Amino acid sequence: MAETIEVKKGRYKIIYNREGCIGAEACVIVHPNQWYMSPDNKADFKKEQFDQEELELNVEAAESCPVKVIKIIDTETGKVIFPRED
Ligand code: SF4
Repeated sequence: MAETIEVKKGRYKIIYNREGCIGAEACVIVHPNQWYMSPDNKADFKKEQFDQEELELNVEAAESCPVKVIKIIDTETGKVIFPRED
């Protein structure tokens, strides 16, 4: 019987409204290991889910977006990390 390999995905998740991206490139400048520009001048991300150690930089990238199309959620609690709900 084949072994089941569990793929660890990371606690936090990016929800990205690609349609709303205006190609400002701010996210790419802030976090180039996560965001890159595609030929259609829209940003795309490399990893949908990530862990705590990458949270700060991912939030900074989301904050830098002028049209706020990057959202970050905590998959364990369901809480929206960015944009902040105060
Ligand atoms: S900062 Fe926002 S608008 Fe600019 S490329 Fe990134 S997702 Fe698109």
